[in-house]
Amino acid sequence: MATGINDDKDTGPARGGRRPGPATGAGRPPRGRTSDSGRVRGAGLGQDRGMADVIVVGGGIIGLTAATRLRERGAEVTVWSAQEPAETVSAVAAAAWYPTRTGPGERILAWAAASYDQFRRDAFDRVPGVLVRETRNLERSGATGEPWWAPAARGVRYHPAPAPWTREVRFRAPLVEMGEYLPWLRERLRTAGARVLRRRVDRLEEALVEAPVVVNATGLAAGPLCGDPDVLPARGQIVLVANTGIYTSVRDEGEPGTYVHPRSRDVVLGGTWQEGDWNTTPDPATRDAILERCRALVPELAGAPIVGEKVGLRPVRRGGPRVEAEKWPGGTVVHAYGHGGAGMTLCWGCADEVAALAL
Ligand SMILES: Cc1cc2nc3c(=O)[nH]c(=O)nc-3n(C[C@H](O)[C@H](O)[C@H](O)COP(=O)(O)OP(=O)(O)OC[C@H]3O[C@@H](n4cnc5c(N)ncnc54)[C@H](O)[C@@H]3O)c2cc1C
Repeated sequence: MATGINDDKDTGPARGGRRPGPATGAGRPPRGRTSDSGRVRGAGLGQDRGMADVIVVGGGIIGLTAATRLRERGAEVTVWSAQEPAETVSAVAAAAWYPTRTGPGERILAWAAASYDQFRRDAFDRVPGVLVRETRNLERSGATGEPWWAPAARGVRYHPAPAPWTREVRFRAPLVEMGEYLPWLRERLRTAGARVLRRRVDRLEEALVEAPVVVNATGLAAGPLCGDPDVLPARGQIVLVANTGIYTSVRDEGEPGTYVHPRSRDVVLGGTWQEGDWNTTPDPATRDAILERCRALVPELAGAPIVGEKVGLRPVRRGGPRVEAEKWPGGTVVHAYGHGGAGMTLCWGCADEVAALAL
C-alpha cells in the first residue's frame, strides 16, 4: 500500500535536487558557517556522502517544524518517523493556539509568540488547514490582571461574564486542522530537499550512526528512548460534530476544561486531561459528558450530528518541555519533547531553538 512517508531510504522528490519554496535552504551548507543574516551558507559535504547533517526522529508537529527550520538554515535534513502524520498524537490535537497547562515563563512565552506569529502568517498565506478564530476564554479564577500569555496573543480584551465565571477574555487565535497541515508540512519539506522516511528506532544511537546531530522529537516515546522518568501521558478524548455554522472558539477554564473549537467542516468538542492513563479507546460515558458540557456552553451545538471521536495521549513532562542539546557518545542529541497539551502552540518557537542548538 502506498504511504505518504516513504518506507525505503531513497525518497522521491527530494533527491532530484532542490526546488524553490519557503522551507528551502540555498544549498547544502557546511555546518556552523553563517552569513550575516544568520543563515548557514555555502556548499557542504553531507550530500556527497549521502549523509544527513541532522536526523530528526519524530514526524509529529514538533519534528516536522524543527526539520523545516533546520532545512531553512541550509542543513541536510532527514526525518525518521515510526508513524504516518495521521497516526500521531499531533493529528488528534484540537490544535487551538493556547498554552494549556504550561508556563508561565519567558521561554514558553517566546515560543508561544513565535508560533502565534508563524500561524498568523500561514493563515494570511492561505496555508492548508490554518484558520484564525475569535476566541472566548471563560475564566473562573477571579483574576483581574493580564494573563501571562496575553502578549503572545498580540492583545486580549476583557468582558464581564455571568456566574460561575468571573470574566471573559477574548482574543484571536490560530486553529490548525492537523489532518491538512501535517501532510502539507511534510510535502513542503520534501520539496525543499529534505528526506522523510518511515522508520522506527529502538535506540537513538541508530540515528547517531548516520548523522552527527539527532533531534529527539519522539513525543511520549522520548521517555523510554532517553531514559527520562518525568515523561507521562495525559489522555485526551474529543468528540467531533458537524459544523452547522459556528465560528467562535469557546473555552471554559473549569475542571475538567471544556472547549468548543469550530473548524472548517466540523467542531472539536473536549475535553479530558487524564494523567497516567494509557487507554486510547474512546469511552462512551466520557463522550456523553463532553457533549453535555459543550452543549451547555454553546447551545447552537444542539442537534449537530456526531461525525467522530478520538483519543490522544499528550506527551507531558513534569517540569515542562525539554529543549536542550546533550552530548552522547556518538554525537549530539537535541531533545525536543514533553510539550503536553501545547505542542501546536509552542512548535514554531521550539523549532527555532532546536535549529539554533543543532547547527
Ligand atoms: C485531545 C488533544 C487535544 C489537544 N489540543 C491541543 C491544542 O488545542 N493546542 C495545542 O497546542 N496542543 C494540543 N494538544 C497537544 C498536542 O497534540 C501535542 O503537544 C503535540 O502533538 C506533541 O507533538 P509531538 O510531535 O511532540 O508528538 P507526536 O505527535 O506524538 O509525534 C511523535 C513522533 O515521534 C515518532 N516516534 C515515536 N517513537 C518513535 C521511534 N521509536 N522511532 C521513530 N519515530 C518515533 C512518532 O511516530 C511521531 O511521528 C492536544 C492533544 C490532545 C491529545
